[in-house]
Amino acid sequence: MRVRGCGGKVRFRDHEEAVEHLHHAASARQAASLVEGVVTTLHALRAYACQACHGWHVTSQPRTTEAVPA
Ligand SMILES: [Zn+2]
Repeated sequence: MRVRGCGGKVRFRDHEEAVEHLHHAASARQAASLVEGVVTTLHALRAYACQACHGWHVTSQPRTTEAVPA
């Protein structure tokens, strides 16, 4: 199966794990203001289920074409 557009993204096993990361990222963003070179996932605002790899990813965009409404 061909995985499109998510090869370089952080993948989570389920929604709970992804949301947990979002909470971590939210607090980390504040600390990140003091540090250079923070990882991109610190900007993550929401989680979405990926149809390509059947995992979950996080994104900083309110809505993307990757997200498929349940
Ligand atoms: Zn994926």
